[in-house]
Amino acid sequence: MSRSEQFFEAAQRHIPGGVNSPVRAFRSVGGTPVFFESAAGAYVTDADGKRYIDYVGSWGPMILGHAHPEIIAAVSARVEKGLSFGAPTELETMMADRVCELVPSMELVRMTSSGTEATMSAIRLARGFTGRDKIIKFEGNYHGHVDSLMVKAGSGMLTLGEPSSPGVPAALAELTLTLPYNDADAVRETMGKLGDEVACIIVEPVAGNMNCIPPVPGFLEALREVCDQHGTVLIFDEVMTGFRVARGGAQALYGVTPDLTALGKIIGGGMPVGAFGGRRDIMQKISPLGPVYQAGTLSGNPIAMTAGLKTLELLSAPGFHEALAATTERLTQGMEAAAESAGVALSTNRAGGMFGLFFTGDGPVTDFHGATGCNQEQFKHFFHAMLERGVYLAPSAFEAGFVSGAHGDAEIDGTLAAAREAFAAVAGR
Ligand code: PMP
Repeated sequence: MSRSEQFFEAAQRHIPGGVNSPVRAFRSVGGTPVFFESAAGAYVTDADGKRYIDYVGSWGPMILGHAHPEIIAAVSARVEKGLSFGAPTELETMMADRVCELVPSMELVRMTSSGTEATMSAIRLARGFTGRDKIIKFEGNYHGHVDSLMVKAGSGMLTLGEPSSPGVPAALAELTLTLPYNDADAVRETMGKLGDEVACIIVEPVAGNMNCIPPVPGFLEALREVCDQHGTVLIFDEVMTGFRVARGGAQALYGVTPDLTALGKIIGGGMPVGAFGGRRDIMQKISPLGPVYQAGTLSGNPIAMTAGLKTLELLSAPGFHEALAATTERLTQGMEAAAESAGVALSTNRAGGMFGLFFTGDGPVTDFHGATGCNQEQFKHFFHAMLERGVYLAPSAFEAGFVSGAHGDAEIDGTLAAAREAFAAVAGR
């Protein structure tokens, strides 16, 4: 029995399913989750001492690679001064100034401790600001486990939303309309009928939770247009894309400006952090300036601010995102070539430092149906074949992959060599 197997068995004694977040349980790929011990640069090492090239990066935060020496040094020095005060520190001002500089649509910003809190608070704020209750989200987008967002589409476009998890009240789900991603016509039609009742549209400007699906040209622009027409707040959930697809996030990459932005992951450099912010007139409604309540015991935590600030500083180096995008392109092009020579149908998507592999001959994949229509069995087979060969991909066909600044030619070459064998195994050769 491996140590991961032993640890997983022990974990299930007192942790539901043995994990503290469900995707870690390997339910969709089968097998035993890998328990990790340490990580450095592009590599993670498991409890049995096996090393993997990592494309999960803690689901996005580790854009500089794991255990970056400058971040570890900054955090270690800061830890000596105390872990939390529940009172303001200068670090929070430094963080707010840096975020507003990198993402100019954010004029005021409030820190939280997770991405879920950021989107939840942004929605409450949008509702408080507009005095409206309905919200619009998109099929296959994930914004954290917020009640109002754990909702799937009803049977028709304008029908009431249905809870996607027991425990979410139907009365709340009814206020959430779910539309197909990348379908500007559906948005125009729905907003044409209900726009004046809709508090906000929330969107992943590059979807990263149904694998990686970039916006089709005109989609984000259409959201901006209908929101302007109806006084609806446009929220970009950049928890995943922020500081990853470009230094200024997806809004910089695609040139569409939201009213509010939710951030997470990278902004904490691997510590538990989220943030939301945007237009000053909207953000001024947040307590203590305004009546919309929002708070957090550990919000703006000094250790998390230190890790995040150092991360933002290092990723602001000239050329960082261009290099990251080039590495990602090398990876996806190499994957396509490897699949093709093995006779496996594969389509890839990418945006900056995120990517998606789709086992389908019908690419490019642009929506939820395209993503769910891919060959799951082939993905599972490929995932395990790569894991065996020392490449750690997300253990689900519906998660984006992440490249870090520590992934160099050696790691991409190693990954592609493993992929050639893995695709051959998938093809049964
Ligand atoms: N929004 C997006 C786009 C996400 O990808 C995630 C997490 N994967 C969240 C929100 C929720 O963030 P957290 O897990 O930190 O609560």
